[in-house]
Formats: sequence, C-alpha cells, structure tokens
Amino acid sequence: MKVLKFGGTSVGSVENMCNVKNIINDGKKKIVVLSAMSGTTNILVSIANNILNDKPNEAIEKINKLHETYFSTIDNLLYNESLNAEVKKYVTEIFNFLVECTYQEYSLHLENQIVAQGELLSTYMFHNYLAQEGIKSTLLPALSFMRIDKNKEPDLFYIKQDFESVFQQTPKANIYITQGFICLDEEGNISNLQRGGSDYTATIIGAVIKAEEVEIWTDIDGMHNNDPRYVENTKPISNLSFDEAAELAYFGAKILHPQTVTPVRADNIPVRLKNTMNPQAFGTLINDNHIENGVKAIAAKDNITAIKIKSGRMLLAHGFLRKVFEIFEVYETAIDMITTSEVAISLTIDDDKNLDKILRELEKFSVVEVDKKQTIVCLVGHSIVNHHETYKLFQILQDVKIRMISYGGSNNNISLLINADDKITTLGKLNHYLFELVTL
Ligand code: ADP
Ligand code: ASP
Ligand code: MG
Repeated sequence: MKVLKFGGTSVGSVENMCNVKNIINDGKKKIVVLSAMSGTTNILVSIANNILNDKPNEAIEKINKLHETYFSTIDNLLYNESLNAEVKKYVTEIFNFLVECTYQEYSLHLENQIVAQGELLSTYMFHNYLAQEGIKSTLLPALSFMRIDKNKEPDLFYIKQDFESVFQQTPKANIYITQGFICLDEEGNISNLQRGGSDYTATIIGAVIKAEEVEIWTDIDGMHNNDPRYVENTKPISNLSFDEAAELAYFGAKILHPQTVTPVRADNIPVRLKNTMNPQAFGTLINDNHIENGVKAIAAKDNITAIKIKSGRMLLAHGFLRKVFEIFEVYETAIDMITTSEVAISLTIDDDKNLDKILRELEKFSVVEVDKKQTIVCLVGHSIVNHHETYKLFQILQDVKIRMISYGGSNNNISLLINADDKITTLGKLNHYLFELVTL
C-alpha cells in the first residue's frame, strides 16, 4: 500500500481538490494524508497570537472572515445539498469552538488546539467531496493514533499499535484519509509535528505500515537544485539519496519537513515528490541509491545565531570544548556548524530560546560574541567534498563575506555561514558558478 500526502496548495482550491481526486482514484488501496488548505494554518497561528496579545476582537474578526471563506469554498465544492449542509454544520462547530477559544486565557495547549483545526476542516471537506463524486473513502482520525513522546519525537511503538487497531475498526475502503501535522503529546493533549509536519505524518505512517512508497504531492515538480523562491531558472532533481534529501530538508529546503526521510530510510521505503498540478512530471525519487554528480542542490536556513567563544586564559586547553558543549547540552540546544582556531571556537544555533542562559554560563570562562540574523547556505551532493568541480563554489568569496565554512564534516554537505542580507545574492551567484557556467 502507498501513502500519498497532499499539501496546502493541493487542497487549497476546488480545482486542485479535483486534481487530487483524479490522482487518487485509481482503484488501488492507499492512505491519503492531507494538510490544511493553504493559508489556514498561518491564520490560525495569528489568531492564537491575538489571544496571547490580548486582542480577542482581532481574533474574532479573522475567525468570521475565515468562516465565510470556508462557506464559499463549500458552496463551490459541494452541489449535493445534504452533503453541503452536513459539512457546513461541521465547519460551523469548528468556528464556534474557535470563537470560544478567544474568551480563554492563552496557553500553548490552547494554541495547539487552535492550529489543529485546519487539518480537521480539510479532511472532512475532502472526504465528503469524494462521497459526492461517488468515491468511497474512510476517515482515519490522526488524533487516535499519532503521538509524540516527551522529547517531541514520534512514539513509534504506540503509533503502530494504535494505528493498527484504528485501521482494523474502520470500515473498509480503498481510500483512507487522515490528517497530517496533528498528534497527541505524551499526556494526551493535542499537539503537532511542527510547521510543515504533514510530510512527517506521511513518512511515519509509511514506516508503520511498511508502505511500498510514500508520495509527497505539492505545488512544484520535485526538489529543485536551488530555492525557487529566490533564484530564477532552478531545475528539478530526478534522484536524491536519503542522505542528500535529509541534509537539504534540515538545511532549509521548504519542500520537505526537516525530519521527513527519518522514519523511512532504515526500511528503504522510497519517497517520491510530485506536482499535483502537473502529475505527468517525473518529480524527485528519494531512495538509497547514491549517484555521484557533484553539487546537486543548494538550500538556505534562516534565523541562525552565530556565537564566537574565545577562551580566556586556557587557549583551547583540553577540556575547554567539553565545557562548552556541556552547556549547550544542559540547555537542550542543538549546534549546527562549528569551526575552531587556536584561541576561539565559532558555532551556530537555530533555536535561541535559551540563548541568554547559555551566554551567562559561557561568559564565566570565556569572552563571547554573538551575531544574530545569520543564514546557513548548504550545498549538497553525494561525496561533493571529493568532486573535481566543487572548487567552483569558492568563487563566491569574490562576492560575499563568509563568516564560517564547514567542509568535510560530512562528505555530502558543505555549509557556509553568511549575513542574512546576503542570502539572495549568495544563492544566485552559487547557482551561476555551479549550475550555469559551462567549463570548457
Ligand atoms: P506544501 O504545502 O505542499 O507542503 P510547501 O510550501 O511546504 O508545500 O513546499 C513547496 C514549496 O517549497 C515550493 O512551492 C517552493 O517554493 C518551496 N521550495 C523551497 N526550496 C525548494 C526546493 N529546493 N525545491 C522545490 N521547492 C522548494
Ligand atoms: N498545515 C501545517 C502547516 O501549514 C502542516 C503542513 O502543511 O504540512 O504547517
Ligand atoms: Mg510543506
């Protein structure tokens, strides 16, 4: 059985929902994971922010506007009167719940409940749309099997057990529809797999059922060799290894949630990226084949903080690095890049929640400099550190100031740290040097 995930744009309009219907209606048994309609999760997050900032009226205004938008989509989607009425009733209950949330005190728990509504709306609407079109489908409620543990990692033991029992009890159909992104936490409260998490839902389910393939259907024809939001003339990559895809997702290629390939790589379950609006395009196939072909793709990760730690009197005496890393461990902060010299180490973090506490500890035995608003640009390709054309990337030194370089940490990844303001120039120039310039 395959798992097919459709993102926000794919379920974001009546026309695209019709495309999704055509893609999945091939008579084969499958699990379909849906995101919220595009834009919905952003609005739900901003409603939660309004509650946090004590602006309930702004929240209610957004809720009413979104309610109207959903009603007009339902009118375009469902001409069957009884299904139309049934879906509007369900949708109204959700919007009434959102209004009730605005009377409450903000908490993360409340925010998680609010942002979970997007996937509940889209799956219910789509399930009823299929019914109208004469296609039988069954809803598998994600909140009855998807859960994370206290480290916010998917709890695969429970997910497998609960998924199997929900699946057994659900009326049989060819098409099973479930919500991406949403889950329960270890205490049974509603939570989520972080923004973009529907991709992760799909591969977690893929691993649990040992799917033959996981397909991620989106609004572009696969992973491109550079970020199409900032660079022109990017091209789709037909094949990526799990390692390459994992590096690109982790270092900012928005098309995939950072953890997408983690659940499926051990079982070598292929992940295919496809375009809902152009299903004929090959897309990208991610599996464990390694094709050595120089730099395959470039991605960028924003909101990075760089920390330079100069050792006071010890000059990198042994034990210094341990002391530094222990502090990051205590404050559960992952380090992305590191470089060292005789007198200092520079490193980067993307989660600066505990930055003040970390700095206070570091300053007890070193001099610390912090630069915010940095960007990691990451170049990925199997064994690129050994490839004869990789040198071309260093032409970038003519164009922008490089704060750090990480080369050789992995054979498949070279990372550069730059000022966020230089990101678009850097991506464009690297595209030129690595993919557009033809060497004679
Ligand atoms: P979905 O809602 O389907 O999950 P996303 O917006 O999360 O879609 O991901 C698709 C978007 O990712 C594309 O429209 C594109 O703008 C962006 N993107 C960023 N980097 C890349 C890349 N290297 N290749 C393809 N798309 C990328
Ligand atoms: N709807 C969620 C988000 O916008 C999850 C997803 O789209 O994957 O982040
Ligand atoms: Mg996405």
